Amino acid sequence: MRITVCPSCGSSKVKKVRRKWTGEFQGHVYIIPSLEFHECPDCGERIYDRDAMRKIEAHSPAFSAHGSGVKS
Ligand SMILES: [Zn+2]
Repeated sequence: MRITVCPSCGSSKVKKVRRKWTGEFQGHVYIIPSLEFHECPDCGERIYDRDAMRKIEAHSPAFSAHGSGVKS
């Protein structure tokens, strides 16, 4: 998936970055050592494509419970 325009501010400076990503869910902090996502330098908006979402879900305590309708 290719993202070139920020959905938040319309900037075309959105670029793909790969860095350590820290998320928080219900007080639980979880870290993904190297996550690829798109970031807008103008407004700071982060855009996650399907692969990034999948990685986040794999690491997130919110999705750690299996059998929630996810089929392989
Ligand atoms: Zn933006």
